[in-house]
Amino acid sequence: MQTKIGIPASPGIAIARAIILDSEEYAIPQRHVDLENVPAEIDRIERAFDEAVRELAELETQQRKSGKIEIRDLFAVHRQFLQDRILKDKAIDLINTERLTAECAVDRVLGEVHQYFLKTENRYISERAADITDLRRRLIKHLIDFKQASLGALDQEVIVVAKDLRPTQTAVFDPRFVKGIACDAGGKTSHASIVARAMGIPAVMALEDLTGIVQRGTEIIVDGNTGVVIIDPNPEMVAEFSAAAESIATLQQSLETIRHEPAVTRDQIPIVLLANIEFPEEADHVLQVEADGVGLFRTEFLYLRSGTEPTEQVHYESYAGVIQAMQGRPLTIRTMDLGADKFTQSHRFAPETNPFLGLRSIRFSLKHRDMFVAQLRAIFRASVLGPVKIMLPMITTLKELAMAHEILDSTRSDLRAEGIAFASDIPVGIMIETPAAALMAHRLAGRADFFSIGTNDLTQYTLAVDRGNAQVAALFSAAEPAVLKLIKATIDGARVTGIEVGICGEMASEPKYTMLLLGLGLRTLSLTPKMIPDIKKIIRSVTLTECEQLAEAALKADSAEQVLESVTEKARTILPEFFK
Ligand code: PEP
Ligand code: MG
Repeated sequence: MQTKIGIPASPGIAIARAIILDSEEYAIPQRHVDLENVPAEIDRIERAFDEAVRELAELETQQRKSGKIEIRDLFAVHRQFLQDRILKDKAIDLINTERLTAECAVDRVLGEVHQYFLKTENRYISERAADITDLRRRLIKHLIDFKQASLGALDQEVIVVAKDLRPTQTAVFDPRFVKGIACDAGGKTSHASIVARAMGIPAVMALEDLTGIVQRGTEIIVDGNTGVVIIDPNPEMVAEFSAAAESIATLQQSLETIRHEPAVTRDQIPIVLLANIEFPEEADHVLQVEADGVGLFRTEFLYLRSGTEPTEQVHYESYAGVIQAMQGRPLTIRTMDLGADKFTQSHRFAPETNPFLGLRSIRFSLKHRDMFVAQLRAIFRASVLGPVKIMLPMITTLKELAMAHEILDSTRSDLRAEGIAFASDIPVGIMIETPAAALMAHRLAGRADFFSIGTNDLTQYTLAVDRGNAQVAALFSAAEPAVLKLIKATIDGARVTGIEVGICGEMASEPKYTMLLLGLGLRTLSLTPKMIPDIKKIIRSVTLTECEQLAEAALKADSAEQVLESVTEKARTILPEFFK
């Protein structure tokens, strides 16, 4: 038995046998074959391409059946790449001329194409580099007969163990069988974590060398609440965690009774509970937990799930679908937050030394005006179908906000000139994600209809801790008094003009912080839908007075540890069953 502690990335406890997903680069040694074996190697190439094409066609069919159009298109693009004879002929050529092994030839050809794609100035082509890596892995997998478990065809419950997870891997997860995820790399905001939370699968990230320790079939416990992963647990541990999982399930069931009740404190202060969603499919879950609406619809899925850049129509169809599904509840669409962690390195247009301080988020949108306008036009067009809000990410200065408003104004004028209808009163709010914005909140409040505090980035930029870097994960804490002071400054800034201020960072999904956030003055929380019943229960169990006392003490604390100790202690006295 061995215990590892990583970053808790998606809540819940899972116990099952491991399945190892290899997402590492395959190291292919340069090997040659004798002349008489050349035909056999060519034959292997032909078979590997055929098998990969067949596999991709099957994946396309599966995705078509489940209605995931963007993913189906991605697989179709991969298949077309392989059916075009150029790649195959180049590999065969290398076998004939240099007598390379089939895997070595594929590795060389696809490696060269990958490099070429990465270097090209044409953004559409450079974005394809990640697809080439994916194809290379797929072909080599067939060539070296690597029996990678097919996650699309599972028939028993498993814990997926991987170094990291790629979009095409997570896209085919079947949540009936994938019970937990444990990765060497990643953080709370990595792609795998976002998908895990969206699917309600418990996950732990940043486990460093887990894939080196775990074998396929090893029993594993994944505790997505605490970040604990136990490999090959003894029967006592299995019993302990099974009991904990059962008590979580019982607690969840007990929360059913308050599903239709309002989120009000014991002293009758109403709190707005909104949901954060990553994919349109999650709209159902938002209704099921009876959220008041969506406070953060991350739109990056449109860029990350598909191999092609979304057109205005693709944007429109996604937004229209979710607006209609929301049945009158407001939908806050966050404009594209691309750059930094929202590109794999190979998706990058131009590699940056400090991507989180680089061309990301609103800066990216202001620079790529055409892409931004396509998205805004789609949001405006969809606004006639139901209540919509536009939220601009990572506004740092008044100047940036003015530039964004200029683009919004010109988009509205264009639509009017074209006679296209849209709602004239769409609120335009901003995310407060940098210390600069928090400190200037009183001024930004004059040009924004609402604020939403993005504590994931606010914490990263305040503490100078990369939110996705496992090595400094222990330093990343939204409970640091410096972060709390900036949250307070934002709330005070919003009061200057009386605009609404909410929070949509992960902090809002963590029960231990609920009292603190209310005490600091927040009345709107946007969080992962799965946690809405828990957070509502806490709200209904506390008074604002005790929350305010807690917040006052936290603002005077010296460290995150002190804050955490006091918030957990207080929470335990009020709801012991929640904070064991
Ligand atoms: C945040 O930064 O807190 C946030 C909600 O945005 P994202 O996690 O998408 O960067
Ligand atoms: Mg952010």
